[in-house]
Amino acid sequence: MSRPTQAIIDRAALRNNVAQVRANAPGRRIMAIIKANAYGHGLVRIAQMLSRPSEEQHETKVDAFGVACLEEAERLRGVGIQCPITLLEGVFEPSEYEDAARLGLTVVIHHLWQIAALESIRVSVPLSVWLKVDTGMHRLGLPLADTRNAWDRLSVCRSVRPPIGLMTHFACADVRSSFMTAHQMASFRGVIAGLEGASCLANSAAILGHPATHGQWVRPGLMLYGVSPFVDQSAASLGLHPVMQFSSRLIALRRVRAGETVGYGGAWVSPVDTMVGTVAVGYADGYPRHAPSGTPVLVNGQRAPLVGRVSMDMLCVDLKDQPNARIGDPVLLWGKDLPVEEIATAAGTIPYELLCHIAPRVAVQEQN
Ligand SMILES: *Cc1c(COP(=O)(O)O)cnc(C)c1O
Repeated sequence: MSRPTQAIIDRAALRNNVAQVRANAPGRRIMAIIKANAYGHGLVRIAQMLSRPSEEQHETKVDAFGVACLEEAERLRGVGIQCPITLLEGVFEPSEYEDAARLGLTVVIHHLWQIAALESIRVSVPLSVWLKVDTGMHRLGLPLADTRNAWDRLSVCRSVRPPIGLMTHFACADVRSSFMTAHQMASFRGVIAGLEGASCLANSAAILGHPATHGQWVRPGLMLYGVSPFVDQSAASLGLHPVMQFSSRLIALRRVRAGETVGYGGAWVSPVDTMVGTVAVGYADGYPRHAPSGTPVLVNGQRAPLVGRVSMDMLCVDLKDQPNARIGDPVLLWGKDLPVEEIATAAGTIPYELLCHIAPRVAVQEQN
């Protein structure tokens, strides 16, 4: 048996989640966010699944992709992906504009230096652009006061292909009670009033929680992968199905007496005589090292608590409720019936981080 640590990518779940985006944002165009190796699910794999027309009732083909850098876009073009691709942070240096033009990419313009650079060069093919406005997140985007002028400059720039799209990003869309989203929305509306061009605002949380923010385009990331952007609402209750099933197997079993410890530092002391199972997965696979004792895993579909520190290639579980467990039995780390959201909460992080930390050594398979 080779190392049993694997991530299964469920195509049917992905199709379902695209359908949920359409149901929540009917008639809007979808820019599927596939940066960071498609949140750990495989950049090319997910892009290919989302660029094929579906024979089923639900259309899985999206309208564009959003990535973080030229290298990601280059890989997609390299395997023949032809649909529009947006560089979400635009270029990092002026020399990338020509590469972006050659690859037919759309670039975000979030800063005055990017406009000045575009004005000082001439690309072989004019670039489609999204002008990104900072409406309150204060991370990327033109200040409100500079937006009109930036738009005017771009609209006469010969390296830009009109129309100019208008984009912003929400800081608090996952907190339904926050006033921030409405405030950002009002600022955005105010500054784009009278400007031509499509608008694009909503991430997953806004698609699901703030329908008033849907522009002509929406930008789902997390929800495509079947994960809830809200801490107080499960993916299942939102109709989302987890795309990644992260699993391994038991590779050892041992009796541990009351008072004996398990793992590095002897950090967990067994309160009773019990059976401890060793699972072939560790932080070098992307399982969070900070997951504390008590974090659930599913052994044979049944919950068992993690015990002791997670090590590089292994972790241990208390099998006191599973006297019949055997070496080779399947262990689910997250996926159906064990949401990654729950593991993230236990480990003091967010599901985004766990998904994109899946390590290259984890074997990936597709199903459905
Ligand atoms: C990552 C990202 C998204 C997707 O956000 P989710 O919360 O995963 O839906 C959307 N827009 C921008 C600009 C992003 O960087």
